[in-house]
Amino acid sequence: MELAGRHALVTGGGTGLGLAIATALSAAGAVVTVTGRDAARLDRVAADDPRLHPLPMDVRDEASVRDGIAAAAAARGPVAICVANAGIAAAVPFAQETLDHWRRLMAVNLDGVFVTLQAALATLGPGDWGRMIAMSSVAGLRGLPRGPAYTASKHGVIGLIRAMSEEYMGGPVTFNALCPGYVDTPIVDRAAAGIAARHGMSEAEARDRLASANRHGRLLQAEEVAGAALWLCSDAARSVNGQAIAIHGGQV
Ligand code: NAP
Repeated sequence: MELAGRHALVTGGGTGLGLAIATALSAAGAVVTVTGRDAARLDRVAADDPRLHPLPMDVRDEASVRDGIAAAAAARGPVAICVANAGIAAAVPFAQETLDHWRRLMAVNLDGVFVTLQAALATLGPGDWGRMIAMSSVAGLRGLPRGPAYTASKHGVIGLIRAMSEEYMGGPVTFNALCPGYVDTPIVDRAAAGIAARHGMSEAEARDRLASANRHGRLLQAEEVAGAALWLCSDAARSVNGQAIAIHGGQV
């Protein structure tokens, strides 16, 4: 119970990677605020675990994020662990990308991470311990075809984390990004459905295609990424700061 007494907040904590991370943090003793837009889903998730606390919040809405995080801190203490995980993906070829879609994706994947981390950090007092984690992707480390906005947003997340780690260097808060390959979550279900429709293949074949893009040739399980997040919150990782950690089965 290394995290007993810590308050963690996970955006997009009702599904996929966010839910796996929230569950792992709770199992380690933290009290966890889980956020997302779907309030009913958050309520269902929290009903299964008394240490999870639902907070409906749209990361595109700055006031909703700032007010929500301040209210969570007032109820459960400073947000010592913040996992800015909420994100969306889209397969759009560069020539067909529009500025409108580009901005809508950035509003979630990059602006949302910025406001979330800033609001969470503001709940900490001077000298408070903290772990700020942002969900990037292997698309933060290399380019994905048909994903210019997603790739740029995930590179941006790593840039933000690196800048924060430099600015707060030497203090008790660390800043790191996780960079998974394809993980078996709803985002990959939707990607597989899109590939299947575009290429006239089955969804199982499309999932195999995505799995083969991971270096070890299989989809990751969300628990593998949650394990990395948990390690970053441990005392053992106190000197790991400003890193973009690839979880991809091999080198990116
Ligand atoms: P997911 O199940 O679709 O999770 C996305 C989460 O983000 C959902 O819980 C969703 O909750 C939340 N979200 C989306 N838009 C939001 C908004 N405007 N405001 C607040 N919350 C919002 O897929 P996932 O795989 O777990 O994705 C989590 C993160 O991992 C994303 O940042 C994704 O880019 C990243 N990632 C995923 C993979 C992968 O292969 N699965 C690989 C690398 C990186 P609501 O719908 O309730 O809002």
